[in-house]
Parts: sequence; C-alpha cells; structure tokens
Amino acid sequence: MKKVAVLTSGGDAPGMNAAIRSSIRCGIAKGWEMYGVRNGYAGLISGNIIPMGTRDVGGIIQKGGTILGSARCLEFKTEGGRLKGVRCLRQEGIDALIVIGGNGSQTGSYYLHKLGYPVVGIASTIDNDLYGSEIAIGVDTALNIALEALDRLKVTASSHQRAFLLEVMGRNCGYLALMAGIAGGAEAILVPEVESDPEEIAETLREAYEHGKAHAIIVVAEGAKYNASKLTTFFEKHEERLGFKVRSTILGHVQRGGVPSAFDRILASRFGSGAIIALERGEFGVLVGLSENQVKTTPLEEVVSNKKQLNMDMFKLARILD
Ligand code: ADP
Repeated sequence: MKKVAVLTSGGDAPGMNAAIRSSIRCGIAKGWEMYGVRNGYAGLISGNIIPMGTRDVGGIIQKGGTILGSARCLEFKTEGGRLKGVRCLRQEGIDALIVIGGNGSQTGSYYLHKLGYPVVGIASTIDNDLYGSEIAIGVDTALNIALEALDRLKVTASSHQRAFLLEVMGRNCGYLALMAGIAGGAEAILVPEVESDPEEIAETLREAYEHGKAHAIIVVAEGAKYNASKLTTFFEKHEERLGFKVRSTILGHVQRGGVPSAFDRILASRFGSGAIIALERGEFGVLVGLSENQVKTTPLEEVVSNKKQLNMDMFKLARILD
C-alpha cells in the first residue's frame, strides 16, 4: 500500500472530521501518501482528489460536519458512474479508498469492492442503522442534542401542564428516539420497528396526568408510522374528546451539526486507525465498526444484506420506566 484516499459520503455526522484526521495521520505514520476526495462520490467521479498531509487535518477534531464535504450522487448508483470513479482513482495512482459514511455510502463501497477495487468502510451515521457496528460515529452527539431538546421541553411542559411531542431523526430506525426517550424520561416513545396506535398514546398521556405527573412527553422517530405530522393531525381532530392539546417540535437537521462529543471523537480516532490496520493487512471490502467495545471488521457484503435490529429489551425497559 502506497497511496490511500479518504472520502466522506451521505449525511454528515459529528466526528467525521476526527475520522478523517485519524485515517490521514495513521496512514502517514505507516509511510503512506494520503489523499482526500472532495464531496463524496460526486467528487470521486470528477477526480476531485487532493493530497493531504498531517497539517491539513490540524484543528478539525472539534468541528462537526466534514472538511472534505459530502454529497449525494445519483450517478454513483449506476455501474458506469462507479467505473468512472475507479478510473479516476487509478489515474491518480491511488491504491485503496476509505469511505466514511452510512448505509447508502457503504452500499457504494460494497459495489466498488465488487469491481475489484480495494476499499474499507468506516461506520458513520447519526441514525445508528448500520449493521456491523453497535454504534456509529455521530450517534452519541446527535443523541445528546436530542436529549438537551427533550430536557428543555420538559421544563416548559411541567410549567404549563402541557403535552409535548418531539420528533427526532433516524430514518427507518428508532434508535435515536428510543435512547433519547429513555435518557430523557419520556412518557411514550414511537419507533418504526413497533406498531403504534394513537389512541393508546392518548391513553398513556392521560394516565400520566392522572398519576400526578406535571408533564407528558412523547418522543417520535421520523420513520414511525405515526410521525409528528400525523400525530398532530390526530390530536387536533380529537382534541375535544381527549381533553388536551399536544404541541409538536421537529428537531430535524439541528441534530446533525453539533460539536462532536468526546465519545464520538475517540470512536472516530479508533475507527480511522482500524481502517489503516485493515488496509495494511490486505483486508478489503470490510466495514470498520464497534463490537463489544472492540474495533472489529465485518464484510461489506454482510453489512449491506442485513438490517440492524432495535434492541427490544431496551424498548421494554422504556415502557417500565415511563
Ligand atoms: P448515507 O451513507 O448517510 O446512508 P445516502 O443513502 O444518501 O447516505 O448515500 C450516500 C451516497 O452513497 C449516495 O448519494 C450514492 O452516491 C451512494 N449510494 C447510495 N446507495 C447506493 C447504491 N445502492 N449503490 C451505489 N451507491 C449508492
């Protein structure tokens, strides 16, 4: 291995910069030449590849987002687009690629691997929906941002005896909603993985008041069947019968841009090093992730063909604790 490029792709996640920094510096420590690809797969296809030294990744560990830029690139979903990417890498004499990103990005990495190009993925997505890593880069920071919002809503909810609804991100995965709900002591949590009934939610909120609680908070995953918009419509329609109003807050992209937590910076530093070790071993077509607190690799084929499951024991615990 002589020349290795690093790319960030898909949704940005706090800690991506720490992963770039670690990959570049660990690669240089091996005596390799390191490169960065700008703007994800879009930059790869157009040959937007720049040399990167130790100083180029200075002062970025504390920054959210990605200094390399990210993009969503439709052309990369076609074989023609991917072949273009491989041609650009070969033209620059790049021997291997590190892809920092989530599900979509790692599907792209898998296809590159299938074309015979040496690639290693690093698990990075705030949604925590990536098979092959118990936790991905960005999850901890996003979770803490959601939790802070929840804590603030709780103060207002308690002061005014109002019911509040907080929608958090996560695509089709309920992890962020479930963990924010447990950590923030929500009365109800709605996730895509579990069927929910708005009448039951209304009943839970009513019970919360009857038990003397000063607040009632529902955390909803954006991918839940009854998301914030559908629940709001339901509660408005039945306000008279239910006897209370629900106010809705959609956290949206506010969750992404945070200053990466210590956990995310350390995880990203470990994953960057893990990717370089995998490349050194000649272990290609794998995802670097965390398993039982150890940095482990999982074949990308396994990653893309499996769906990460929500921990149902945690869901049951949430029901006991609400
Ligand atoms: P994330 O990696 O955060 O899940 P996306 O799903 O948007 O983000 O994927 C990021 C990029 O990865 C896409 O814009 C596309 O270039 C590439 N990608 C996604 N899905 C595929 C696929 N099925 N085949 C090849 N490339 C893909």
